[in-house]
Amino acid sequence: MNITVEALVLRTVNYRESDKILTVLTRDRGCLTVKATGARRKGSRLGSCTQLFCHSELSLYERDGRFTLDEGDVKNQFYGLSMDLEKMALASYFAQVLLSEPEDGPGSPDVLRLALNSFYALEKGLYPHATIKAAFELRYMAMNGYAPDLSACAACGKTGQGGYIDIASGLLVCPACIRPTGYGVLPMDEPALGAARYILGCDLKKLFSFKLPEKSMAFLARFCEDYLLDKTEQGYKTLDFYKSLLPREEPI
Ligand SMILES: [Zn+2]
Repeated sequence: MNITVEALVLRTVNYRESDKILTVLTRDRGCLTVKATGARRKGSRLGSCTQLFCHSELSLYERDGRFTLDEGDVKNQFYGLSMDLEKMALASYFAQVLLSEPEDGPGSPDVLRLALNSFYALEKGLYPHATIKAAFELRYMAMNGYAPDLSACAACGKTGQGGYIDIASGLLVCPACIRPTGYGVLPMDEPALGAARYILGCDLKKLFSFKLPEKSMAFLARFCEDYLLDKTEQGYKTLDFYKSLLPREEPI
């Protein structure tokens, strides 16, 4: 059976002499593993659509749950990502996170949109990398059913004074209600909380349209990263590599 899927290439592995095995993120079937026969042969018509991070419309032949690539119509190669090591590293981290999408569905069109919007913003340099990273991490967790409840203090119901987020429960506690528990509780000032609420509720098209002072951005960045690492329960070599490229962080 032939099917057509909109897809973003998240991983490519060379196979045999001239083939490739791709893992692609699709609009509504989660991730698919696709064999691209002869894709590494010089002049192959599958050459461009099987490049890492290529966004294409792919025609696949499906048999017994296995997929073979027939042809691809390239929409965006995201060439700019490969020109910059930091951008490439961050995109690789996003790709590694997205590889946890279910194999052969059920997928969500929003996940592909989030991936494409993030890659586009990164490639074009539209926003600071820290902004794109934090928004991607938190919104992706919300799409997976892990939206934290940041509406008000979980103990007294008050808002507007910053507070602390318990990473495990995703609940906010205000400075008056916090009891020192030590591990897994992160401070957030009010601007950082406002940005987190914005990321959770805004239209995906405007996901990165927020600005924060440096200190608030540091609170937000640490929360979004720790929250994703806690919920996905794994480490990411791509994240370690990305962070190794950055100047040393000041403790907050
Ligand atoms: Zn409170």
